[in-house]
Amino acid sequence: MLNMEKSYHINTNCVQAGYSPKNGEPRVVPIYQSTTFKYDSSEEMAKLFDLESSGYFYTRLQNPTNDAVAAKIAALEGGVAAVLTSSGQAASFFSIFNICSAGDHIISASTIYGGTFNLFSVTMKKLGIDFTFVDPDLPEEELMAAFKPNTKAVFAESLANPALVVLDIEKFARAAHANGVPLIIDNTFPTPINCRPFKFGADIVIHSTTKYMDGHATSVGGVIVDSGNFDWEQNDKFPGLTTPDASYHGLTYSKAFGKGAYITKAVVQLMRDLGSIPGPQNAFLLNIGLETLALRVERHCQNALVVAQYLEKHPKVAWVNYPGLAGNKYYDLAQKYMPKATSGVISFGLKSGREGAVEFMDSLKLAAIVTHVADSRTCILHPAGTTHRQLSDSELEESGVGADLLRLSVGIEHVNDILADVEQALAKV
Ligand code: PLP
Repeated sequence: MLNMEKSYHINTNCVQAGYSPKNGEPRVVPIYQSTTFKYDSSEEMAKLFDLESSGYFYTRLQNPTNDAVAAKIAALEGGVAAVLTSSGQAASFFSIFNICSAGDHIISASTIYGGTFNLFSVTMKKLGIDFTFVDPDLPEEELMAAFKPNTKAVFAESLANPALVVLDIEKFARAAHANGVPLIIDNTFPTPINCRPFKFGADIVIHSTTKYMDGHATSVGGVIVDSGNFDWEQNDKFPGLTTPDASYHGLTYSKAFGKGAYITKAVVQLMRDLGSIPGPQNAFLLNIGLETLALRVERHCQNALVVAQYLEKHPKVAWVNYPGLAGNKYYDLAQKYMPKATSGVISFGLKSGREGAVEFMDSLKLAAIVTHVADSRTCILHPAGTTHRQLSDSELEESGVGADLLRLSVGIEHVNDILADVEQALAKV
């Protein structure tokens, strides 16, 4: 669905974008819990299958609940169209697989979520897609040198999980565009409330909606949003979009759908063939979360700044990484790319190292040890022992995750209760 809500403030779009009921229709996006849709004639159905007319026929491709929620997220990012996926992992995979195939090459920042690193370095490699991982802070000339004739995209997180590296989005966009390929940004951590990657030249944005967007830890999901700004016909690197698709009687996406080509292909070809859509019930829950996204993200970030400032002064704390702290290595980049705030996530290490980290975590009462981040409840994780445990020591180093790193996801509880919990746990270390 195309984004018509560019003129409203983002807080308004969180609540209202994507769904405008007509006279007498439900005020809230209904859950279209139906796999299929009925038509009066076989001719109408045939036109849908040939993409000659638009409409719903099977939820694996499109569903009205999912489409309304996707349109809301497109509005939040300032994009032209979006597609929901069954997980953030699926969004990362399809965002790239939509424009490359065996024999192609992708450049990715090395500081990415451990699951994405595995997807790229192990699973997609098996499909014949090769990745070069680069330090996000590398000089632009070195980034330019990483491109090969078969490079099809550049991928990075705007705010890396869990290293909290703030990406110089413009540097990455310039290099990608100079080489005729799009920049794909995982904007999960800052969310569009804090960072709008399209404004800085990113072409595609993906999210794990499982995190702040859902916000309540109820539903795994993802989304891919297209800015509509990348010209797929500028070179011959993207034949999947610019040459006929035999599975649709020779239709060419860039010709038939213009700015909607990338998302349309992802829906009608990849979702049709590989089927990674969320159930409408999950899309509905995601939509409820999105309504309060702006409010929640603001409070997460306010609380996180207070906790980061407290940790910074504590004698048992060795280091604190929170890009909202003056003096942080990424403070200036954060001011440019996410001036309101970064996220509710802080990473830190204790003077007592890995052992102290475990003792501290086990002593927390309000904050829970969970494999999650970015929901309303304060939670903590030791990435080297969990999400990143498949990574070797050198890969851990490259992705900015030390063995002592604790990732604290500050929730929206009262900040004094969070502080008291951290204080009593530190006293036990
Ligand atoms: N991207 C980032 C930044 C993440 O933190 C995660 C999960 O933690 C993912 C992608 C994968 O998302 P999901 O767990 O929804 O598949």
